Amino acid sequence: MGRYAWILCAGLVAAANVGCAQVENTPAPPPDVVLGHAKLADIRLADAKCPDNTDFTARIYILNSNYKPNPTNPGQYTPPFKPVNVLEPFNSNKNATMTQDLNDAFNKAPNWFRAHLCSLSGIYVSPAGCANFSTNNYQCQGMQGSIMKGAWGFRSFYNRGNPASPNYDLGNRYISVPARLWADRSGTATSHALAFNIFEDILLGELASWRDPIPGQTQGPHISLAATPNDSWITVLAAMAHEYGHV
Ligand SMILES: [Zn+2]
Repeated sequence: MGRYAWILCAGLVAAANVGCAQVENTPAPPPDVVLGHAKLADIRLADAKCPDNTDFTARIYILNSNYKPNPTNPGQYTPPFKPVNVLEPFNSNKNATMTQDLNDAFNKAPNWFRAHLCSLSGIYVSPAGCANFSTNNYQCQGMQGSIMKGAWGFRSFYNRGNPASPNYDLGNRYISVPARLWADRSGTATSHALAFNIFEDILLGELASWRDPIPGQTQGPHISLAATPNDSWITVLAAMAHEYGHV
């Protein structure tokens, strides 16, 4: 397992490890990085293109906050790309730092994972965990539920047998990541996504009962330490990698 695979898996520790298993089974990345050559970041920055030369962010849409795939009620399923389920295509002019985090996450992922992301039928950002989400400036403010609320990954099978259905999307694969990644632990909008250790800290804190509250505070001491590097793009990549594991 390569260095980047470990980084991805580190982001999956707190939840189901479907994605981690998939990463482990994936062949080694192509030998495009050789010791002594430029670092990965140096040769992949400012690219953000899929193999067909389209922008990675052109595949991203902002979901309606109330959209759910409804896995337990297939009769109510509609594909996420339906206009009623989407607020708008992701607009890189509306939030430069969010755009940078998404592009950095993509650019710094191994090539094989970039290809996986580009092969998805749709990538979504869900504001379900934001009490307020202004579509003008793409700022998630206030918290509702889990840090990963509105995040999912799935492969559609509900509408099989009826290709004429307007909801037909058999075999399509989608992931959604939370807009809340771009809010701090108090739910205040920040310019970049959470640092990786804070993201992990919140995830673990939702699961770990040993995190006793500090007197006067609702949460206990941090239970993860700062990683190196600890950048916002790692948080975004970890979330996308986890959800990709579900498809
Ligand atoms: Zn999951």
